[in-house]
Amino acid sequence: MTIRKPEVIRVSIGSAIVLGLVKGLLKAPPTTVYLLTYTKGKCTANCGFCAQARSSKAREDLLSRVSWPPFPLSEVKRKIASAYSEGKIQRVCIQTLNYEGVLEDVAHILAELKSISDIPVSLSSQPLPKEYMKRLLQAGLERIEVSLDAATEELFDKVKGSGVNGPYRWGSQIKALLEAVEVFGRGKVTTHLIAGLGEKERDMVKTIQWCVDRGILPALFAFTPIPGTRLENLTPPMIESYRRIQVARYLIVKRIIRYEDLMFNEAGEIECFPLPRERLHKILESGEPFITSGCPGCNRPFYNERVSGPVYNVPNKDFWKEIKRVEVERLTRVIRSCSI
Ligand code: SF4
Repeated sequence: MTIRKPEVIRVSIGSAIVLGLVKGLLKAPPTTVYLLTYTKGKCTANCGFCAQARSSKAREDLLSRVSWPPFPLSEVKRKIASAYSEGKIQRVCIQTLNYEGVLEDVAHILAELKSISDIPVSLSSQPLPKEYMKRLLQAGLERIEVSLDAATEELFDKVKGSGVNGPYRWGSQIKALLEAVEVFGRGKVTTHLIAGLGEKERDMVKTIQWCVDRGILPALFAFTPIPGTRLENLTPPMIESYRRIQVARYLIVKRIIRYEDLMFNEAGEIECFPLPRERLHKILESGEPFITSGCPGCNRPFYNERVSGPVYNVPNKDFWKEIKRVEVERLTRVIRSCSI
C-alpha cells in the first residue's frame, strides 16, 4: 500500500497574503492561517450551501466567498513557521473535504506543520473515528471542529443529509462531537453553526445552549448564498436577527444567562434579554458579542460578508471601532432589555 503524502495544499487568499505567498492588501488580516486539503475534483459530500459540494457548479477554488489557490506544502509550512515566530499569526486551521484518502492527508499535513513549528493547530472536518482522533491528538492537534451547520435535525437533513443525498446524519455528527470532547477535553471542541438556513432564533439559541452544556464551543456564521450551489437563491439572514443571536450566544458562552432565561415571541424571535438595561448596553457597546467566534485566534475576516457590509462577524476590535456608531444605533432598535 502506498502512503499518501500530499505535496500541495490550498490556502485561503487572505492567509496567502499574510504569509507572503501572494501580494495584496487586506482591510483586516486573518490571525489564523486557513488551509484546505487539496484533491482533484470536488468533495464527495453535497452540502447545499457549499461551493465544494459534489453537485455544486461553483468554482473549484471557492469555499464560502473566499478563493483558495493551491501552493506547495513545503513552502506553506516554512512561511507559517516564520509568520508564527514573528507574531503575525496565532493558529492554523486545516479544513478537509470529504474524499478517499483524506485521513492520511490530514495526518501528513499535521506532521509537516508540527515538524517545523509549535503553532496551535485546529482541524475542521467531517466526523472522524475516535481512535483516529486520539492519533491526531498525540500528533499535536490542539483542537477539533465538527460542523453541525444547521440548528435542527430537520434542517440538517435538508441541507447536508438525506435531503441532498449527502453522507451526513445528525446523529453521527452529535456522536462525533461528544467523542471529540472525550478525546480532546471540554472547551477544545468547536462546532460551526450557520444562521439563516430557515431556523428560528429560538432553535439556534437552544442548540447553542446544548453545545455549551457539553463543553463544545459554538462558532456562529451567517448563511452566504454562493452562485452555483443548491442554496444560491436563499437570502442571507436579516442582520437584526443575526445580532440578537450573537448577543444570546455571547451571554450563554460567558455563562451570564441560559437559553431558558430568554423570552421569545410567536415567531420564535428573542423578545428581550434578562439583563439590566445599562449592563446590556455596555456589552453591546464593547462590540464583543459581534467579534468572530470560534477557536482562539480565529477571526475569518469577510468570510461570510462583503467588505461593504453588513458585517455579520466583525474581524477585530479596530474594525468594530469603525462601524460602532452605526451599529450601536441599530442595536438599540433591535435589542431590548427585559427590565422596564
Ligand atoms: S473556529 Fe476558526 S480555527 Fe476553529 S475550526 Fe472554525 S474556522 Fe477553524
